[in-house]
Amino acid sequence: MDDTSPVGKLQVRSRQVVSGGGSSVTEFTVYCPFRRRSLGIDECEECAAYDGTSDGSAGEPAEVACTRLTPAPDVPPVVEVVARGALERTTVSRIMARHVVCVQADMPLQEVAAVLVRRRIGGVPVVDDEFRPLGMISKTDLVRRSCKDAEEDIELSTAAAAPAGCVAEVMTPSVAALSERASVLEAAAIMADRGIHRMPIVGRDGRIVGVVSSLDILGWISRDLPQGEGVAILQET
Ligand code: SF4
Repeated sequence: MDDTSPVGKLQVRSRQVVSGGGSSVTEFTVYCPFRRRSLGIDECEECAAYDGTSDGSAGEPAEVACTRLTPAPDVPPVVEVVARGALERTTVSRIMARHVVCVQADMPLQEVAAVLVRRRIGGVPVVDDEFRPLGMISKTDLVRRSCKDAEEDIELSTAAAAPAGCVAEVMTPSVAALSERASVLEAAAIMADRGIHRMPIVGRDGRIVGVVSSLDILGWISRDLPQGEGVAILQET
């Protein structure tokens, strides 16, 4: 596929089923805006408008060129401008959790696990005596430590399943703390860049005043920003 060709391109998605023995099956799909549905690349290849597939760095299909599509315009749609403006204007202090449970670095892991399970939260900030953030500890950190100890997968559903040790041994240290005046866009960008799900929010004195999580951001977007095209809900049968 010619990367400079003036035809529009569609991002390729992949879905993979991994089996216990290490084997896997992978399918590649794109969303066709004309048929208004996702379809396999092989179906695209049979279409008269198909103009080739470009590969990614690992040799996997990355983009499909379609002559019926015009190249994406440089100017973003109005809805994106509105959404970005709202993300930039809204401060994290408006959407963060304002009642924060914190732990200290010398707390035993079983007690932390009890806090997380009892309060049904995924993670808590670790702070010093002055409520200044030192890091974050999450269920994932505890499970990772337990797996390392047990050398097998476990699930943290009760505090008793927590590993031995203290917070300082497993917490994610030096997590970025955001000013309460920072924007939701900044919080989202940092979380996406660092692959983290929650961040402590601090006041001018560097002491914690709240926590913002990726779920807080998603919840706010779903309430306050323009809605998407559709939602697929998996129902239990
Ligand atoms: S090549 Fe055909 S099937 Fe594929 S996106 Fe374009 S119009 Fe749809």
